[in-house]
Amino acid sequence: MSVKDWLIKSALSMMPIPMLSVAQTGLLLPYYHYVNDQSPPHLRQLYAGRSRADFTADITWLLQRYTPISLDDLQASLASGKPLPRNCFHLTFDDGFRECHDVIAPVLVRLGVPATFFICSAFLDNKQMFYRNKISLLLDKFSAGLTPSQDLAVKTLVATRGVSYSGLCPLLRTISSPQAVLVDKIAELLAFSFDDYLETERPYLSSGQVDDLLMQGFSIGAHSVDHPRYQELTVEQQINQTRASMAFLIKRFPISCRAFAFPHSDAGITVSFFRALSSEVDLFFGTSRLKKDSYGRCFQRFSLEGSRYTGEEIIKANLLKQAMKGILGRGYIQRKP
Ligand SMILES: [Zn+2]
Repeated sequence: MSVKDWLIKSALSMMPIPMLSVAQTGLLLPYYHYVNDQSPPHLRQLYAGRSRADFTADITWLLQRYTPISLDDLQASLASGKPLPRNCFHLTFDDGFRECHDVIAPVLVRLGVPATFFICSAFLDNKQMFYRNKISLLLDKFSAGLTPSQDLAVKTLVATRGVSYSGLCPLLRTISSPQAVLVDKIAELLAFSFDDYLETERPYLSSGQVDDLLMQGFSIGAHSVDHPRYQELTVEQQINQTRASMAFLIKRFPISCRAFAFPHSDAGITVSFFRALSSEVDLFFGTSRLKKDSYGRCFQRFSLEGSRYTGEEIIKANLLKQAMKGILGRGYIQRKP
């Protein structure tokens, strides 16, 4: 552990929650992508997931201090004006990985905690792979080492695109969906088939697994069709992605609350976007941590992932940051027209 990490951990461990209650919105909305003791190749180059033990510890800590609420509780509170419990939380999980069904749901059922799983319609049933998961698979291949002929082929390809070979891995980590064609071309050179991986590994939820989650009392929501960066789309394209993914889920599954979580980030989303979808989506979820949103039906979430800090430390750090932002007048998202 670095000295910096030790100092941060020591400071956070001494910080009592009541001291931070001034920073609370009353509702904590953590999000995760997956929970697994071993990160699968399509994820391990992107972010560190929680192990089963760490995830269980996170939820156990939350349950000692906060009341778990369901998505329907949140919607009902908004509709009726009846306040939520003073300290409460709702868990959310993005991208619809199979671990939601195989690992996460059994832990949450045992602990009696509701949750919402946000799904991309193009990935459900392993029809298509998210370009970021493709990138993780390629980075994994690179770290395992290429054959001399593969190495030469990739070098030649990236040179024609004005990218230095040494800069390829950092570039792949930041690539956006319109540039994802490069990812497919590299996979072709390495004779790596994403379709075969989808077929054999089944990384995403199937419709049957989603049915199981709903039967167990969990909620699902839309997370766009294929997870683009909304900041790179026109407002019309943002609306189409949201509308199509929501319509797909409503047609296929019984959904009482129509929830949508922005892929990547909700930064820069305008009031006109929310207005256009006001009759089609009940609740929106962003990723701006604990900030309050000027659009009353959009709620902000924070990531509870990573391996360096415990859930308690991440939550306390977020509460502290929000308190400081509040003092500086930056704890609020003002949407542009
Ligand atoms: Zn996502």
